[in-house]
Amino acid sequence: MSKKSRFKQTRPHRTVFAPETGEAPLYWECPVCGYISGDPQFMDGNQPCPICGATDGERREYPTERIRKLDARIREYNRQGDHEIVVILVMALLEAVLEDILDRIMSAHGATLQLRKMVMDTQRAIGTRIGKLFPALVGEEFEEAAAELGYSDFPYRWHQLREVRNAFIHDSPFNGARETMQPRMGDEAMELLDQSYKLFVLLNNRFVTDGFGEG
Ligand SMILES: [Zn+2]
Repeated sequence: MSKKSRFKQTRPHRTVFAPETGEAPLYWECPVCGYISGDPQFMDGNQPCPICGATDGERREYPTERIRKLDARIREYNRQGDHEIVVILVMALLEAVLEDILDRIMSAHGATLQLRKMVMDTQRAIGTRIGKLFPALVGEEFEEAAAELGYSDFPYRWHQLREVRNAFIHDSPFNGARETMQPRMGDEAMELLDQSYKLFVLLNNRFVTDGFGEG
């Protein structure tokens, strides 16, 4: 394993996860350093941020309203047992959350909005974003970073589910009709969804917050 990561845990801190409620988890974000916490006390901007000490500015909700709405729809489809839609929408949500984290990492390292937009517009493929853009930004593979944060099987499971999704939606006359997705893929997608919030908050606190102020 490469130890060339340019991110050092200079100020070790423990990420507080939001409680599980059966809905999208609710986190708050420091507007100054980007630190994200599920600790309800952190909602109060008068409490100093444990990372940068900021008490100014409003703590923003994370994930965003757009993601929360999509999450709510996914859970509704899941309750109805529509596992094919669940898989497709969970994959869409994970890609949106990944785009957000990549954007945050670039921003924390001083990339302008114009540059970030150009990178995102030209690197649209999810495989490239994970396999090339992520390691270029943080100095280690996505798989490696996920494993270090305690989610070693997440990248593989995500990849498998993308394949299932692709086989389902890219049905073509050359391949003949695809089999329908198995219902357990819906459960798999829901598990990944719940894990993804935790993993992306950890990635944020490692690569966005710790990159803060390092120029
Ligand atoms: Zn902060």
